[in-house]
Amino acid sequence: MFTTARIVKKMACMATAYSPMKNPYRGNTLVIGDAAAYVEVETQGALTCGFRAGSAVYKELSGMDGFAEYTRWWQDSFEFNSDDYLQVAQGFALVPTYTDDELDYLFALIENETLAGTFNQYKSPRLMWGAFLSHKERIARERPELHKKILTRKLSLSDVL
Ligand SMILES: Cc1cc2nc3c(=O)[nH]c(=O)nc-3n(C[C@H](O)[C@H](O)[C@H](O)COP(=O)(O)OP(=O)(O)OC[C@H]3O[C@@H](n4cnc5c(N)ncnc54)[C@H](O)[C@@H]3O)c2cc1C
Repeated sequence: MFTTARIVKKMACMATAYSPMKNPYRGNTLVIGDAAAYVEVETQGALTCGFRAGSAVYKELSGMDGFAEYTRWWQDSFEFNSDDYLQVAQGFALVPTYTDDELDYLFALIENETLAGTFNQYKSPRLMWGAFLSHKERIARERPELHKKILTRKLSLSDVL
């Protein structure tokens, strides 16, 4: 199908990602959807944020704690707001950056393992890292520098971008 294909134009795009805001309001400002958690809410989550935010604003204007209630829902409903969300953000993007050689080494450790299939972008890095780290003594013995790198992955997405 692509035998006669040719490049007609090249384009590039860059986006800066930020770690999610755990507390999405201050004073009379409520931050919702992608503005509070870049890309992470996804379409269905963004729609729900809009609906919930409308209700929260109405409650605030009626003298109730709409923003605090929205915040409880925000923190309880999205996986990236759980306490281990930083760890997920790191695993998701494989940060800090690993070299081709390090990735080959890590994936070779689990070459004969079949991981559970999942569409969940938060579960998949957990499964992957769980499988790698079941070999952590071996990594420490064979690749001490890589082991040290893995142990120091305490960065957020915004720290590395
Ligand atoms: C590359 C990419 C791929 C994605 N893939 C998927 C996917 O497959 N499935 C999925 O569910 N989600 C996906 N998402 C995530 C999803 O698109 C977002 O989470 C969602 O669109 C966020 O909706 P939002 O309403 O919060 O923000 P947005 O959709 O960004 O809406 C914000 C709106 O505000 C407007 N705006 C900005 N500033 C102003 C201003 N000053 N005045 C007036 N208007 C303004 C913008 O033009 C925009 O229309 C993807 C995102 C990206 C970037």
